[in-house]
This record gives sequence, C-alpha cells and structure tokens, in this order.
Amino acid sequence: MNIQLLGVHSCESQNTKLTSLLIDDILVVDAGGLTSSLSFPAQQKIKAILLTHQHYDHIKDVPAIAFNFAMWNAAIDIYSILPVYETLTTHLLNGKLYPKFLEQPQGNPTIKFTIIEPYQIERIEGYNVLAVKVNHSVPTVGYQITSPDGKVVFYTGDTGPGLADCWERIAPQLLIIEASAPDRFKEFYESRGHLTPTLLKQELSSFQKLKGYLPQVVVVHLNPGLEEEIKAEIAAVAEDLNHPISVGYEGMQLRL
Ligand SMILES: [Zn+2]
Ligand SMILES: [Zn+2]
Repeated sequence: MNIQLLGVHSCESQNTKLTSLLIDDILVVDAGGLTSSLSFPAQQKIKAILLTHQHYDHIKDVPAIAFNFAMWNAAIDIYSILPVYETLTTHLLNGKLYPKFLEQPQGNPTIKFTIIEPYQIERIEGYNVLAVKVNHSVPTVGYQITSPDGKVVFYTGDTGPGLADCWERIAPQLLIIEASAPDRFKEFYESRGHLTPTLLKQELSSFQKLKGYLPQVVVVHLNPGLEEEIKAEIAAVAEDLNHPISVGYEGMQLRL
C-alpha cells in the first residue's frame, strides 16, 4: 500500500493544502486538497473518494473533481455517511451553487454516491473499508482501509479525545491522526472536536493499553501558523511515549 499525503493543513495557501490522502493512486480519502494537488492524468486514475465529514476543508474539491470527470464523460464513486450526502446535495451540488452532479447526466450521473453505515465493512475497489465513528463537532467517521495484501491504515479525519471505543474496533499498522494546534489552545480546540499534542498523547496511551501495541503514527490537519509549536510538542510526546511520531507534509509518501 502506497499512501501519498496530498494535503495536511487546516488552512489553504500556495504551499499548504487542505486534508486529502491518495492510496495506491486510485483511492482518495477527503477532498480538501485533491484537484489542486494532482495532474489531470493522475485525477483520471481515481476510482473512489471517501469523505469523513461535511466540513468545507474536507469536501472542497468535490465540485472540481466532478467538473473534471464530467469533462471526460466519466463517473466517479463517492462514499460517505448520510449527513455528508445531505449536506452536499442540499448546499453544494444543488443546481444553484454547482450542478446536481449526483443526478446529471440523467441515467448516468457524474457522481455515484453510496451512503455507508458505520461499522459495516464496505468492499471498494478490492479494499475492505470500515467506517468508525470519531468525536467531532458534526457526525464524522474515520476509515480503516485494508488492502488486498492485508496492509491496514486507519485515518481518523477530524476528531477530539475519547477514542477508546474507536480503538476497540480497529487494528492498523499505520495511524494517520489529527493534531490541529499546540497545547496553549487545548481548551478551544478540544471544545470544537480537535486534538492538541497532549490530547493526542492521552489517546495514544489509551490505544497502547487497549491493543498492546502502537502503530506507526503520522499527524495531519495542522494549523500552518502554529506548525513549529505543534512540531516541538509532538517531538516531546514521542519522547514521553518512547515511540516515533511523524508530522505529515504535502507530498509525503508512506509505504506499508
Ligand atoms: Zn471538521
Ligand atoms: Zn478539518
């Protein structure tokens, strides 16, 4: 399994893209920094997009990728939970802001949307995909993705603390998890369903206690203006846990 981090930030600029991962060139998770990160030929290889939740920084490029697939007279599969489907069809792809790509062209719409249920394994392009609820300000799922050769990654999406139930349900070799801001903003970020390094440390300790191991850990969803502080605090957490933690960056390649 080859995972490319397309976007790892919570604010967009020339050098920082919104959250998006690309797996084996065909599977995308979250579409914040999708079209802005990939050439047209690379976009054409994409078979399916999984969305963790409805927030703009995770769905931003859905209209853009739909326009491109419409240009190629092709269709793309999108998978997510019901609230994301409702948000997209009501507010974004509604015929006012953007075309109704979930209905048009009639009979063969550009976006084929599948509503998934948490805790039921979905078979997508040969991968087993398990959606697991996490703790954010709107309904959100993380995805455990298992490749045909048995490699396992879990990506949390946006989440605050309290992930013990989530950890019970998964067993990844690689954990991609958020750390949005440094600890001096802990209360504010925690109240909005995000993690800071100290909260991440608690969640990783809980993982280790429940599962008896720690996976490879990469943090994403970084506030670009606070990144150096986040990095320093993540390094301290890694030392406390005696376990390496990588800070993600645009273009980072992870191999399993
Ligand atoms: Zn969010
Ligand atoms: Zn976000």
